[in-house]
Amino acid sequence: MKPKVAFFDFAGCEGCQLQVVNLEESILDLIDIVEVVSFREAMKEHSDDYDIAFIEGSIARPMDEERLRGIRSKAKILVALGACACMGGVNALRNQFPVNDLKKMVYGGADPKHIENNPYFDIFPVKAVDEVVKVDYYIPGCPINRDEFARVVTALVLGEKPVLPNYPVCVECKKRGNICVFEEGKFCLGPVTRAGCDAICPTNGDGCEGCRGLLDDPNTQSELEVLQKYGLTLDEALDRFNVFCYKAKAEVAKAEVAKAEVNK
Ligand code: SF4
Ligand code: SF4
Ligand code: SF4
Repeated sequence: MKPKVAFFDFAGCEGCQLQVVNLEESILDLIDIVEVVSFREAMKEHSDDYDIAFIEGSIARPMDEERLRGIRSKAKILVALGACACMGGVNALRNQFPVNDLKKMVYGGADPKHIENNPYFDIFPVKAVDEVVKVDYYIPGCPINRDEFARVVTALVLGEKPVLPNYPVCVECKKRGNICVFEEGKFCLGPVTRAGCDAICPTNGDGCEGCRGLLDDPNTQSELEVLQKYGLTLDEALDRFNVFCYKAKAEVAKAEVAKAEVNK
């Protein structure tokens, strides 16, 4: 029996699901090994009987939490799909501001009777999926890399643990023979960001913005050395991480504190 697979979207742009739709001919290989029972972006049918749930988007409201817990209770395996689901993503930029200020800014012109006590507008600071339910596996990126998605699905069907690269984007960047963007006066989070995108941004002349999140054990010392070499500060790096990965700011800061403790 093929495992039944379902896709669910929360607060996000649906670009990660689009990457799955865009698998083109390799989607046929996937359909050979799984049965897709729910995928709003690609089909009308829906079933609540599934083994693997892919969650796209971040969690922004109490009603999202409730829906997510319901999905978790039905799924044997739950996979966070993309930066929004894995880390909060770009939506979490709003966590820097008080919720009431944001509501005023966005819905200020609306009739309060449509907003107050309406669960659709009852927002809280954005959460990653694993802040609400247990996540079994993560597929990072904004958007996800579709080949990596196919590899993860294949591993799950084979009963294997999907393995993500745990080396920095710099490795892929060097393999592609790129000139480091720091040499061109640009900024890059490649030294501490998980590889797997084939260093697509530096290859196209832009610094890495960290959309695949931190490595499991990021070499923050190496990032600091690179920053110092080019006259930049850790604060600038942390602010950049906020774009996709609000949790990283706390993690990098924690790593720095731990290091300082060891060096005392
Ligand atoms: S991770 Fe990026 S591409 Fe995926 S849903 Fe979020 S914003 Fe869209
Ligand atoms: S810092 Fe960025 S541009 Fe430089 S080698 Fe690393 S990934 Fe490439
Ligand atoms: S280079 Fe960095 S920002 Fe660009 S896709 Fe890869 S991880 Fe994301």
